[in-house]
Amino acid sequence: MSEREWGQFHSEANLAKSISIEAAELLECFQWDDNGDRERVRRELADVLTYCFLLADRLGASPEELMREKLAITRDKYPIERSRGRSTKYDQL
Ligand SMILES: [Mg+2]
Repeated sequence: MSEREWGQFHSEANLAKSISIEAAELLECFQWDDNGDRERVRRELADVLTYCFLLADRLGASPEELMREKLAITRDKYPIERSRGRSTKYDQL
């Protein structure tokens, strides 16, 4: 991508918007068919991941680091004894 000089468009805001736009395109794959076209799903997921990785890089963080930090927060919000086997939101447990 650097050879195309697209980095100049990759502000944090533009990348966040792009993640949401590509996530909508991913969801569109399942709009009328719960199975979705596999190849299309793979391509849209790749778009989402690409923008996620670019934004993480822009924030100076690794995706793994970000996920680990958030999983620790989630772990605290959802104590095992109250959340096992339930899809209830943490504030309703
Ligand atoms: Mg796309």
